[in-house]
Amino acid sequence: MTTQKILPPSVSELRALFNGKVIAPDDPRYEQARTVFYGGVDKHPAAIVRVADAGDVSRLVSLAREYGFDLAVRSGGHSGAGHSTSEGGIVLDLSAMKNLVIDHEHQTAWVEAGMTAGEYTTAVGAHGFVTGFGDTGSVGLGGITLGGGVGYLTRKFGLTIDNLLAAEVVTADGQLLHVDEDSHADLFWAIRGGGGNFGVATRFKFKLHKLEKIYGGMLFLPATAETIASFLSEADSAPDELSAILNVMPAPPMPFLSTDVHGKMIIMAMMVYAGDVQVGERVMSKFRAIATPYADMLRPMTYPEMFPPEEGGYHPVAASTTMFLDHVNRSVAQFMLDTLSKSTAMMAVTQLRVLGGAMARVPADATAFAHRGSRIMANLAALYNNPEEKEHHEAWVSKYEKELRQSDQGAYVNFLGAVDQAQVRAAYPGSVWKRLVEIKKRYDPTNLFRLNQNIPPK
Ligand SMILES: Cc1cc2nc3c(=O)[nH]c(=O)nc-3n(C[C@H](O)[C@H](O)[C@H](O)COP(=O)(O)OP(=O)(O)OC[C@H]3O[C@@H](n4cnc5c(N)ncnc54)[C@H](O)[C@@H]3O)c2cc1C
Repeated sequence: MTTQKILPPSVSELRALFNGKVIAPDDPRYEQARTVFYGGVDKHPAAIVRVADAGDVSRLVSLAREYGFDLAVRSGGHSGAGHSTSEGGIVLDLSAMKNLVIDHEHQTAWVEAGMTAGEYTTAVGAHGFVTGFGDTGSVGLGGITLGGGVGYLTRKFGLTIDNLLAAEVVTADGQLLHVDEDSHADLFWAIRGGGGNFGVATRFKFKLHKLEKIYGGMLFLPATAETIASFLSEADSAPDELSAILNVMPAPPMPFLSTDVHGKMIIMAMMVYAGDVQVGERVMSKFRAIATPYADMLRPMTYPEMFPPEEGGYHPVAASTTMFLDHVNRSVAQFMLDTLSKSTAMMAVTQLRVLGGAMARVPADATAFAHRGSRIMANLAALYNNPEEKEHHEAWVSKYEKELRQSDQGAYVNFLGAVDQAQVRAAYPGSVWKRLVEIKKRYDPTNLFRLNQNIPPK
């Protein structure tokens, strides 16, 4: 006999409870509201509660605890594992909570967790300020911050969490806590890398840095073993002001690339020099000299210009994984090129991020993100259309990862897809895991917050 799961209270009762909107399957907005960034995630929640304030968050968390339904927490909806939705459960959707208050005098900002990185960057950028997140504007502040935050300002100003001064968090008992170095310091440590395991962050307080202009943009170079290795070596020895994200991949048919380049292996580098633009130009000249660029779009600009408008309705299906590398010399680079060329995916990419700088100067035990000494982050991905090819592309990614693996066994939690417990533990090496479990037991003993890269309370 099957027992039908009845959601207590009913949708109409839920609607009466919240200041925000409750979107159920009968609502014309439901299809759009249940859609997350990644394609291939097709879940039907019983309702999506677009919370309006911390009171709504607390009420929904308390209901989930009382009735035991699955609670998915969503900020920007970019979870690679599809964690921010649920089949039959309720989605706590923060996307209507976007209040931002800038304190010019102290150079800080309080922002609600439903804002996207791009919205925040534009808003504070209008005042000449920056806080670093990742490389994509549509990512939500909630997910990227709680996992760590690696982007264009990492070597200059550290990870996103290194710029997090405080947060407000609704814990499993429904309480709204102010969390910082002095208040619930254990929780403050855990939410800086431990993801959504400990509660729902409703607001963050970030450091703001004055940065009127950068020298940055995109540089397209031919990808050979030589150019990839040289690029990484230059990026590693460059001043901290420079952060670079390289994508090694076959050239897409981009209008500014000549047609004879389309399909050839390229380095598509996204680069930021976060300092004096003249010095920035000199630093970039070393990268320009690696090979004759296919396209050179590096120039003085404002930081928000690094986040051009994104294509709405883009929902890629991806097989992907993440790892850290110690070095990429010519033979490693050649192996990458050979492996990429063997993929049958619509698009196969190896993304490389040179780490170090400010992020590496934070002690490894200062936050739950513990990979301070890691040198290079590598994301391996195969994008495809046909869901029947899933297994094939996943096997390619998994073999690639095994063969590429060097001594660093860690992983960055925010780039993990749907993984098993062992892979989640790779994000939290050694004593970090034990410490996180203890804090989880304290704040979420029943594992109410389990739709995430989960740290069970046992
Ligand atoms: C295109 C793309 C580009 C990316 N680029 C970068 C990058 O450059 N640098 C980088 O570091 N990462 C990057 N990421 C990874 C990204 O940081 C993670 O996927 C992150 O979890 C997304 O956050 P979100 O709020 O958009 O996602 P969501 O799917 O909304 O949330 C992801 C998970 O975070 C938790 N969560 C979200 N908000 C809250 C909250 N307020 N309180 C408690 N828990 C919460 C939940 O567990 C949820 O399941 C990228 C991802 C994509 C898809």
